[in-house]
Amino acid sequence: MMAQYHVLKAQVPDCLLFYRMGDFFELFFDDAKAAAATLDIALTARGTHDGQPVAMCGVPVHAAEGYLARLIKAGHRVAIAEQTESPAEAKKRGGSKSLVARGIVRVVTAGTLTEESLLDAKAANWLVALAEANGELGMAAADISTGRFEIGCVPRGQRDAELARLSAAEIVVPDTLEDAPDGAYPCPRARFDAAAGEARMKSLFGVATLDGYGAFSRAELAAAAGLLAYLDNAGQGTLPFLQPPERRQAAGHMLIDAATRESLELTQASDGGRRGSLLDAVDRTVTGAGARLLRADIAAPLTDRTAIEARLDLVGLFEADSGLRDAVRRALKAQPDIGRALGRIAAGRGSPRDAGQLRDGLAEARNLHDRLEQIDHPPTLLASLLPRLTGHGALVDQLSRALVPMPPVDADKGGYIAEGYDAALDTLRASGGDGRRAIAALEARYRTETGIATLRIRHNGVLGYHVEVAARHADPLMQAESGFTHRQTLAGVVRFNAADLHDHAIKVAQAGAHALAAEAAHLEELTQAVLDRRHAIAATADALARLDVAAGLAERAAEGGWCRPTLVDHSCFEIVGGRHPVVEQAVARAGGRFVANDCSLSEDSRLWLVTGPNMGGKSTFLRQNATIAVLAQSGSPVPATSATLGLVDRLFSRVGASDNLARGQSTFMVEMVETAAILAQATPRSFVILDEVGRGTSTYDGLAIAWAVVEAIHNRNRCRCLFATHYHELTRLAERLDALTLHHVRAREWKGELVLLHELVRGPADRSYGLAVAKLAGLPAAVVTRARAVLAKLEAGRNATGGLAAGLDDLPLFAAAAAAEPKVDPLHAALAATDADTLSPRDALELVYRLKLLL
Ligand code: ADP
Repeated sequence: MMAQYHVLKAQVPDCLLFYRMGDFFELFFDDAKAAAATLDIALTARGTHDGQPVAMCGVPVHAAEGYLARLIKAGHRVAIAEQTESPAEAKKRGGSKSLVARGIVRVVTAGTLTEESLLDAKAANWLVALAEANGELGMAAADISTGRFEIGCVPRGQRDAELARLSAAEIVVPDTLEDAPDGAYPCPRARFDAAAGEARMKSLFGVATLDGYGAFSRAELAAAAGLLAYLDNAGQGTLPFLQPPERRQAAGHMLIDAATRESLELTQASDGGRRGSLLDAVDRTVTGAGARLLRADIAAPLTDRTAIEARLDLVGLFEADSGLRDAVRRALKAQPDIGRALGRIAAGRGSPRDAGQLRDGLAEARNLHDRLEQIDHPPTLLASLLPRLTGHGALVDQLSRALVPMPPVDADKGGYIAEGYDAALDTLRASGGDGRRAIAALEARYRTETGIATLRIRHNGVLGYHVEVAARHADPLMQAESGFTHRQTLAGVVRFNAADLHDHAIKVAQAGAHALAAEAAHLEELTQAVLDRRHAIAATADALARLDVAAGLAERAAEGGWCRPTLVDHSCFEIVGGRHPVVEQAVARAGGRFVANDCSLSEDSRLWLVTGPNMGGKSTFLRQNATIAVLAQSGSPVPATSATLGLVDRLFSRVGASDNLARGQSTFMVEMVETAAILAQATPRSFVILDEVGRGTSTYDGLAIAWAVVEAIHNRNRCRCLFATHYHELTRLAERLDALTLHHVRAREWKGELVLLHELVRGPADRSYGLAVAKLAGLPAAVVTRARAVLAKLEAGRNATGGLAAGLDDLPLFAAAAAAEPKVDPLHAALAATDADTLSPRDALELVYRLKLLL
């Protein structure tokens, strides 16, 4: 057995091997130690290997899922070795001592899960593969729990943003890839072969050409090849269900990098959970599929106005008609998760209950269709969803006839095929039932015959049917002529067999086994019928999710008085009465009232400098506007009285270092790296919020950096920007930068107490209120008094010297300073960087095209 174990283990050296032995999966050696530590289960020893005791632990097969979940969560990979023949077959093959054959049937990793209990119902579970070719980075991603599959090219600087958008559960890369993302799993380079990827996809989707899905580049095909090879290996040859790939074009989506996602807490709050995130504050979906789609929408807002408006139109329909909205939401709420049920069935792990869920879900989709079809002038998106909700009549009918109303999860015990579906099965069941009734009748007969009123016929897994009597009545039955055969003596009872009982029991068992086999054959047919329609079922699941998202957003808008945003092509940002949905909820919970604020940016007033006391609401104001942009372009109503905005191509949010201590790198370094990324990437269509940039270093450095950054954003990037700062000195920039205006959050001192009004008004803050905030925060009175004295001294000094920003007014403008940088001609630079000797003819041609673009 150990020899067999080692052969299997050698196939999966980096996995924990679950080795099936009867009712347990056993782990050995270091695997056992690792698993015992993670699962907190007993580590034992079994025999010796090379003179050493072999460490071992085991988990019961029926509870394996829960243990698997914990191992995967802890970052392990698990390979499952099952018995591939029965002990009887093994005996037939090689005599009574021969070992049952085992094989690895599956490799389970974070990105290849389909089990309901191992997945988050409200989040997709993405497996991502990356590959390089022709200097491009290709990315293929699959969520095998629902069959979603997307392929695209990613500009190198946006790779991490893309991975963050998907919050990839697992990433695989060729082992030759340089600069792979953290935690990526390296696979042999040969698996990422573009030609093989193309061939594999053609055969998978049964098409002669992939053109219908998009013109894929070599890098994209290589990534797809790596992804499919990895899935093949995980399923040991059985590939899970994948829908045809969606070609993902970065240009179709608002670019949001990982740091921005984190600081805006779009889909995850700062503690890593869902609570406290924007998604959580917006989500009113009633199905898992709807929650997953909303999450994907918010993670990737669109930049195509028509597509955004199509979504808003659908939300608008549900906003206008609350009766319709309620009816649809009620219907959806009762919907099972058919996308995931289909995923399990396609992965070969479907249960009768999954088939039942498809029956119910598809039938309900049809009802919804009939209701929605009544709508006059349906919005275009609804019109395109409607046909996807129907067409499953024959399948629903077959499933309805075949299955009992509530099929069980466990197929092993049978009982899921309905009566009347198969006459032969009904007969088998009847004879099993007759047998059981006959056995019940035997009990009465045995009682009379033996005179033991407490005699019982029982059934268990070891003895099967048997007669049981209390120990004190056992003696007469022990006699040879009694007709009973002794089987077992326990503490209080003695168990017997009897000839008639045995005959009936065999009949019952045979009928039962035949019935089970008949049910299993039907389940296989039903599974095939489902698989034949898998693409149409997946499309129905997606359409239902879209309806759920739209109805949920309409519900949210009605609840919070949100408005439909107006999208325009020029670069403006006009919000009246804007609010931050998460802070608003928190303020309301604390019994307060959220103060709505306006924001108005345009081409000639595109940079707002926001000052004011700490805790005054600066950050909240910045973030509420960024989240309004995200929501609007996701196709959602926004928390405001009115909102008009020009489409945002890229969104950036940065928070000064001291708010962000939980990182390894020097926090100031991080702040500067991130700020550099914005200055390099923001375009005139971008939206940037910068909160206290420059705070992570000394006052002079910080002010100098903040000053230069504001100038650069204003003069070079020319994007829409909200910049919050406590450097009062920056307000002088207003005189020098014509598209910059000053704003502050209001505060008042009233009877010696500070009152924060959280109201944004035009103009610079009159003073910093730092000491008042300190007092508000509970700094001891003596310390505050002392600080007041120090401040008075400092202010006197400042008045004498002109203060921190003394002399800055003489500084030449940033544009002038920038002009002094040596000018590099891009054409010249590109040619200088070319090594003509290493160019292939094709590269040379590409180079010429590139150079022409630089002209
Ligand atoms: P700052 O960035 O100026 O230090 P924050 O934006 O972090 O201030 O806000 C501090 C707190 O003030 C928030 O946690 C919230 O409780 C409250 N607050 C902020 N903005 C508002 C508002 N518009 N209305 C009501 N309360 C607000």
